[in-house]
Amino acid sequence: MFEAARIRVTGVVQGVGFRPFVWRLARELELTGWVKNDAAGVEIHAAGDSGQLRELERRLREDAPPLARVDAVTIALVESGAQADFRIVESGGGKVSTAIGHDTAPCAACLAELFDPESRRWRHGFITCTHCGPRYTVTRHLPYDRAQTSLAPFPLCPACQREYTDPADRRFHAETTCCPACGPQLQLVNAQGQPLAGDPIAATLALLQAGQIIAIKGLGGFHLACDARNGAAVAELRLRKQREEKPFAVMVAAVPSAPTFVDLSLDAAELLASAERPIVLTQKSPEADSLLPGVAPGLAELGLLLPATPIQYLLFHEAAGRPAGTAWQDSPQALALVMTSANPHGEPLVIGNDEALMRLAGIADALLLHDRDIVIRCDDSVRLEAGFVRRARGYVPRAIKLAQAGPPVLALGGWYKNTICVTRGDEAFVSQHIGDLDNAASCGFLEESVAHLLEILEVAPALVAHDLHPDFHSTRFAVDFAAARGTPLLGVQHHHAHIAAVCAEHGIETSVLGLALDGVGLGSDGRAWGGELLRVDGGQCERLGHLQPLALPGGDIAAREPWRMAAAALHALGRTDEIVARFSPEPAAATVATMLARGLNCPLTSSAGRLFDAAAGLLEVRQRASFEGQAAMLLEGLAVQHGPVAPLQEGWRISADGTLDMRPLLSALADAPVAECARFAALFHDTLAAALLAWVEAAARQSGITTVAAAGGCLLNRRLAGSLRSGLPARGLRFLEARNLPPNDGGLSLGQAWVAQRLISATQV
Ligand SMILES: [Zn+2]
Ligand SMILES: [Zn+2]
Repeated sequence: MFEAARIRVTGVVQGVGFRPFVWRLARELELTGWVKNDAAGVEIHAAGDSGQLRELERRLREDAPPLARVDAVTIALVESGAQADFRIVESGGGKVSTAIGHDTAPCAACLAELFDPESRRWRHGFITCTHCGPRYTVTRHLPYDRAQTSLAPFPLCPACQREYTDPADRRFHAETTCCPACGPQLQLVNAQGQPLAGDPIAATLALLQAGQIIAIKGLGGFHLACDARNGAAVAELRLRKQREEKPFAVMVAAVPSAPTFVDLSLDAAELLASAERPIVLTQKSPEADSLLPGVAPGLAELGLLLPATPIQYLLFHEAAGRPAGTAWQDSPQALALVMTSANPHGEPLVIGNDEALMRLAGIADALLLHDRDIVIRCDDSVRLEAGFVRRARGYVPRAIKLAQAGPPVLALGGWYKNTICVTRGDEAFVSQHIGDLDNAASCGFLEESVAHLLEILEVAPALVAHDLHPDFHSTRFAVDFAAARGTPLLGVQHHHAHIAAVCAEHGIETSVLGLALDGVGLGSDGRAWGGELLRVDGGQCERLGHLQPLALPGGDIAAREPWRMAAAALHALGRTDEIVARFSPEPAAATVATMLARGLNCPLTSSAGRLFDAAAGLLEVRQRASFEGQAAMLLEGLAVQHGPVAPLQEGWRISADGTLDMRPLLSALADAPVAECARFAALFHDTLAAALLAWVEAAARQSGITTVAAAGGCLLNRRLAGSLRSGLPARGLRFLEARNLPPNDGGLSLGQAWVAQRLISATQV
């Protein structure tokens, strides 16, 4: 039977090869009509056999191109005469294009061309098609077409133009396509910016293999690279980057090259090879430390990633001897490169060529540049199998779906690992990782990110949300922004926001118990919170309990010196007189003992992160941290080494007011023999987990709430998170955690936005 239908497809359907996909499908199904982009997505008019029309509807959902995300297909029968053929129609003006895609690694078809000496794009560092390549990081404005990207200065050559206009071609309307004749060019320069002779890829590889440090322009910023197997080069990179111990990520050619360095699970292998190409944190192999000296000293895990750009692929291809075809990736390759963000002094990533020469002076021996601009700064994403540590390149600007649509909200996040969030309807757009707001450049990046997100989403916020801390740059910016526009302002408590972020991701609309285990956040009573048991009902939050507070001798400095937290623990155990003897190598030991005894400059904190520091200090794992979370990571490494233990009997107390007191456990750690440090590290983890489970279970019984959301930086501790993940369901409780955002402060902005939306809806009812 002959019928005609108007079909509307919404989701991520523009700039992803959707129209040619529809065109090919329609021709295959012998339908006539047209397809076009419009403001809401893709519109199709199709006429033909009714069975074939239904087949079209099914395959629109099921066979969509790799980068597309189909949210809905709606179909309405219409009256219409037959047309001669099926055509792609240009968008008829007005507001077009609803989204910018995310950056992805080269697809299999592009890789096959990249390594094919017969292809006109053999060894072309900018190969891409509608299914892969740069998007977010090259797009200045919407609508997404070539003129709005940093490919605008590169007009297509006749051969590329033919592909671009042929609906049957993989590069039909591929806005970032190019070739060696018309595309950007690679150039290797020395530290003074003078061009170096020879093939840029071959010359770069030769310098890397000679132990030099090379800045390489990537998708969302520059990397600093060196030979990961060369201990001297790695040490030199640490020295120049002033990065004493923080682990570096390592890039290998493909999954088969990974097992030399890590024990790779199937899930981790799949993540590594995913089109988003994150850094994946995974268990080191026993040989890793000797093969990669100084890359991730003392830690149980290594961050690994695969090439995410054609340029990175070409370095590995060169090292393999420029083989034809793609099979070389299937066998282990010797080359392993440290790939660390080029962000001197913790400032935002370097993205411009001139900027690189200036900011990386004294760090990079040479720079592999090209003339395609990076428009948006975007760091590498970092993942665990179960979630995120940092969400950026490959994932941004994809939206997180909310359970309900609400008014648009701008949320500014916290201080550490800042991100911002803008909501539009039932979607929340969380920015890429912006960084710690402790320098002017990062604060500037935050402001740019706000402007950019609001522009590409075409949203005017109805409410601006921020952390309760008045001194954060994010808070001050929120206040100014709201005042300038007359927009209402809302402060959201830090740990409420942590739990709310988990609720937002999981579409939770009921009451939950929130377990927030964190470094520090300002509480609603003005104190430093961080080990909290909350009851969250949408916009409302009640504190049911907290960890027994410990003193922070000297304030913020205690977070960087675990021995101070160990001293605070001794003081809390009534053993202040032991502090000087135990920590005598620390020049401030006597002063700290006096401060604790007299309560001078010793604010209290219920932080779970500081409890980990206290344990690390008592076990003499680490007395001073060279980066945030280091002591806890080393402690976890020791616990993993030792394996599980039975929790300490009566290792904690829960008081009638809901306070969880871990002093009995701390007392055991204070008396632990140094030789048994690993066993006590395991005892600390497993006893703390048992205590938290008992604490939550008691609150669940009292409140009748059976859903538990856990968040905060401590959830990145696999041992602790694993115990909660299995222990809560075993007690009949539903356990929720962050999946698409980090559990740490990188997720705060989403939680703030969700709370704001709940409060607006509540006042409108
Ligand atoms: Zn491709
Ligand atoms: Zn071309």
